[in-house]
Amino acid sequence: MSQSSDNPDIFIVEKQQCPVCGKHESTFSEYEIEDPLAGPIAIFSIKCNACGYKNSDLEFLEEGTPAEYSIEISSKEDLNIRVIKSGSCEIKIPTFRISVDSSMGSEGFITNIEGVLNRFRQQILFLKEDDDLDKTQRKKIKNILKGLDEVCAGEKSMVLKLKDDTGNSMILSDKVEVKPLKKRK
Ligand SMILES: [Zn+2]
Repeated sequence: MSQSSDNPDIFIVEKQQCPVCGKHESTFSEYEIEDPLAGPIAIFSIKCNACGYKNSDLEFLEEGTPAEYSIEISSKEDLNIRVIKSGSCEIKIPTFRISVDSSMGSEGFITNIEGVLNRFRQQILFLKEDDDLDKTQRKKIKNILKGLDEVCAGEKSMVLKLKDDTGNSMILSDKVEVKPLKKRK
């Protein structure tokens, strides 16, 4: 092994064009981490000093398997299961009929099941502020939030699916079901 995970190199490029505001005020950075189970991963991030735009993504350095990962979360322990999600990954919670599409490119991150659920909660809380919601939609949101709380308390089980046809996402658990997909180039 020539690669040292103790001393990773960080590459930073300043004054790049921002994909949102177009000004040459963004900073790109890239570094590598060594995940004990998934292997070496490159982490990319961008931050614009002009408009505040921020994003991050990741990519396996050893080619991953394009797949749909499906897991049943049925205890508090399951909340600690590690999740690696790239910007091309679609997340679905069929139990609550929630789906986050990634066709526009979303954020890539490494977290655990609890972290994924917290992000969902944030997005749903944001939705809740929308004045245009009708009574039925408000009730639905309330039920989803209650359901997420119950899952986090270990009182309810739910299914979480991660679908990534670039092969850069994973749920790291023995109880995960993996369905291979055709690779997207
Ligand atoms: Zn910008």
